[in-house]
Amino acid sequence: MQGMQGLRRDMIPAAKPVIGDEEIDAAVRVLRSGQVVQGPEVAAFEEEFGALVEGRTCVAVNSGTSALHLALLALGIGRGDEVVVPSFSFAATANAVRLAGAEPVFAEIDADTFCLDPDAVADAIGPRTAALMPVHLYGHPAPMGGLTRLAQRHGLAVVEDACQAHGAALHGRPVGTFGEAACFSFYPTKNMHALEGGIVTVPDEGHARTLRLLRNQGMEQRYANEIVGANMRMTDVAAAIGRVQLARLEGWTEQRRRNASVLDSGLRGLTVPPVADGARHVYHQYTVRVPGGAAVREAVQEELRTLGVGSAVYYPTPIHRLRPYEDLGVHLPVSDRASEEVLSLPVHPGLTPDDLAHIVAAAGEALRVAGAAGAVGGRERGEVVPS
Ligand SMILES: *Cc1c(COP(=O)(O)O)cnc(C)c1O
Repeated sequence: MQGMQGLRRDMIPAAKPVIGDEEIDAAVRVLRSGQVVQGPEVAAFEEEFGALVEGRTCVAVNSGTSALHLALLALGIGRGDEVVVPSFSFAATANAVRLAGAEPVFAEIDADTFCLDPDAVADAIGPRTAALMPVHLYGHPAPMGGLTRLAQRHGLAVVEDACQAHGAALHGRPVGTFGEAACFSFYPTKNMHALEGGIVTVPDEGHARTLRLLRNQGMEQRYANEIVGANMRMTDVAAAIGRVQLARLEGWTEQRRRNASVLDSGLRGLTVPPVADGARHVYHQYTVRVPGGAAVREAVQEELRTLGVGSAVYYPTPIHRLRPYEDLGVHLPVSDRASEEVLSLPVHPGLTPDDLAHIVAAAGEALRVAGAAGAVGGRERGEVVPS
């Protein structure tokens, strides 16, 4: 790709949260209404979000982490229990388990989809295991068929971490409908946001009621506290913004999927993200593998930056190597390797056709400059496109 260095352009950001006039108008409307916490906007948001999860009951909270934490508490998971989680995820997945008083047990992922490998999960299940917590990482659904069968065989709960996967599905069934509970995040960089926020989806009213108590000091009637609860309520400003975003989510998701397919067919010399049979990938991240290790990846990122293309690494350190968890001493080579190779390129719905063409060209140039392209070929799985 000759002459790219001469090309000056604005940086294409790795993510681009939308805070437009509609979001601002919605926030102002709530502020002027005076009903700002756990009010009508929150109720409407919970009702409307139900459409994404086949009408399951939704309980809104103040973050995805709170959603995971309260989901575990509502299911009675805590001290003495183990929860099987992937190490290749955001730390919140394991943190929620520890916050609930339980212990995370890290299991290996599938090298293609980056989601939990059911065989590895089977090996991780022991006498104290109470739940499985699959993560639909990058917007790709985890293998819920195999995981649900395991959970049923061993009498375990399933809590889906769907924080990156609004609208993803497996064989037509949406994520958020497989587990005893599922959790979504509305942090600004997610596929839709509410500034901050989260939702737990549950199939039954009993757990929904417990979740509503837990998020609000254990109260249904004011000052008649029934259980020990936290304050993890969502504000109506957040919910109003979330409603605006939810109305646009499907259009944005289709745009992400179209963007991903342009990148899939254009990129050379990288392993583009494989999609499992029957999976609807919603591309929270478009994550490739850069062969050659973390130093080569760093050089690729540096060159991309020079060419005006933002990129990001999710996650440079698998959770089992972070300080709170390193003493567990687990050995997870597939997760380690993913952490050294993954690179997320822009895929957000704000990209223009011009941006996408530029990302493809810049990626080719960055691989050439970093000397990474020649390293491809050792890996036959996935859609490895030789340069
Ligand atoms: C974002 C995220 C969370 C936590 O959500 P917050 O709203 O940031 O608390 C949990 N798990 C995964 C996989 C995430 O990406």
